Amino acid sequence: MTPEEFRRHAHRLVDWMADYMSEVERFPVRAQTRPGEVASALPPAAPEAGEPMETVFADFERIVMPGMTHWQHPRFFAYFPANSSPPSVLAEMLTATLGAQCMLWQTSPAATEMESRMLDWLRHAIGLPEGFSGVIQDSASSAILCALLTARERATDGAANERGLADAGAAPVVYTSDQAHSATEKGAKIAGYGRNHVRLVKTGDDFAMRADALDAAIRADKAAGLRPACIVASMGTTGVGAIDRLDEIGAVARAHDVFLHVDAAWAGSALICEEHRWMLRGIETVDSLVFNPHKWLLTNFDCSAHFVRDPDALVRTLSILPAYLQSREGNAVIDYRDWSVPLGRRFRALKLWFVLRSYGLAGLRDMIRRHIALAEWLEGKIAAHPDFELTAPRSLALLNFRYAPAGAGALDELNERLLHAINDDGRIYLTQGSVRGAYVIRVSIGQTGTERIHVEQAWEAIKAAAARLQSHPRV
Ligand SMILES: *Cc1c(COP(=O)(O)O)cnc(C)c1O
Repeated sequence: MTPEEFRRHAHRLVDWMADYMSEVERFPVRAQTRPGEVASALPPAAPEAGEPMETVFADFERIVMPGMTHWQHPRFFAYFPANSSPPSVLAEMLTATLGAQCMLWQTSPAATEMESRMLDWLRHAIGLPEGFSGVIQDSASSAILCALLTARERATDGAANERGLADAGAAPVVYTSDQAHSATEKGAKIAGYGRNHVRLVKTGDDFAMRADALDAAIRADKAAGLRPACIVASMGTTGVGAIDRLDEIGAVARAHDVFLHVDAAWAGSALICEEHRWMLRGIETVDSLVFNPHKWLLTNFDCSAHFVRDPDALVRTLSILPAYLQSREGNAVIDYRDWSVPLGRRFRALKLWFVLRSYGLAGLRDMIRRHIALAEWLEGKIAAHPDFELTAPRSLALLNFRYAPAGAGALDELNERLLHAINDDGRIYLTQGSVRGAYVIRVSIGQTGTERIHVEQAWEAIKAAAARLQSHPRV
């Protein structure tokens, strides 16, 4: 493709993109596709001869689009948001065009220096104290893995990296709450702790990790000759958005000299608003924290902000220096490849720069506050309705409810049928959760374009689906 042909196709695609952004509401939120439908429309092997871009693009519209779930739809209330924005998309276009692999300072100084500066901007923006250095990871899962690895090396004094865990003495142990995201368990498997050395600490009525239970678990492991190594606290669990109290958890971490990581993947973005900074109480005891601008800060996936108090410990854990990666700048610059598991790195700081400058912190705060106010509105409606109940207190813009009309039994099954009815309808998209063993329906508000009207429509769709279940009790 020549640059002139590229220009022609690109203009057409940009028009398509702008149309999509303004018309995304026309689509059903969740793809209404059967398993295998898309695969069967794709030939089993690549074409021998090249095809015109017109044909490729026509197939994109015909085959791909019907198989997409529309995450940027203003009535997307499933999982957590992965909200994007036009400035972020523009930056991604430039990143793709430059196509730089930014593993070392030398392989694109602007990418490295922009990344350091943007993470400083974010650190200020969310009220983290001085003394944290930042790096962009591809996901919160990767940041949690890095924390588990750093903690493992700290607990074994570097022996796990050198001799392997089997030869590193007493087994290290990980602690997280029974509400925490599965990324910690997955990371513990990858980092060699083993699932048997992950303690899911009991939570209280507020779903937050109980510090006394954490302390007891650590003491029991020490008595058994094991090595408590890492605590992963949650700032906003996936199920109900529970916030662990960092001051209480941190006191236990300090008392036992255990590494403390905070998983703030979703809720961390709310820290840009002063009124949510209470979640940081105890931050002085924290060794690292991650939050995802790619969830709730208008920045395209992927972009996880990972802050560490001791970057040397992270770099000692991950660095390898073969001849072909040595550079003459040495320690005078940051080579981010030593800060994350993959060697190769995209230029992800550019989209943060575009987003932060385009909206300003005030614009981003307005968005967070709008979403939380919408969740509050819906919470009020659900609480006031005799046939629905909130199954956990609202946390920021996340709530959980279930349908529990008087006299109804088998509520788990009823709510599962209700959720399927809601999602098959296509106007909104919600996901399920489990609160203390009960099947519940989650509503997470956070899409870029979500306004009051969309949440009102969601509430109408929920009530209408429930009414249909009542008139056809079994289908
Ligand atoms: C989304 C989420 C994760 C996983 O984030 P990725 O960036 O997809 O790895 C981990 N923990 C919590 C609390 C989350 O909400």
